[in-house]
Amino acid sequence: MKDNLLCTSCPLGCQLEVEFSEKKILSVKGNSCKKGIEYAEKEIFYPERIVTTTVKISGASLYLLPVKTEASVPKELCFKVIESASKLQVRAPVKMGEVLIRDILKSGVNLVATRSVEKVG
Ligand code: SF4
Repeated sequence: MKDNLLCTSCPLGCQLEVEFSEKKILSVKGNSCKKGIEYAEKEIFYPERIVTTTVKISGASLYLLPVKTEASVPKELCFKVIESASKLQVRAPVKMGEVLIRDILKSGVNLVATRSVEKVG
């Protein structure tokens, strides 16, 4: 199998041409350093993403609070993380970095607020 990837490990952004089997990377072309090979391996076999979304907030001047996962989670969990966050309602005040859902979906990663919001009224 073949895939084209953009290595995001550094600002150079090499375009990688990756050939792989079900179990291993067979070749990587276009990488300017060996990190590109590591990137390709992770992206093909264990892709992960940091999820950013919003949750409902009450008692504040905003209706939605921006949140993110503290670290990347397996790509297949991303939609479920957004779904879980959409069911959450928090109350102001909230501090930036505050944990809103600990160990979300047993991923070992917390969902945190990305800004502070004061209580109003
Ligand atoms: S392959 Fe190396 S030089 Fe190219 S983007 Fe990845 S880390 Fe940067």
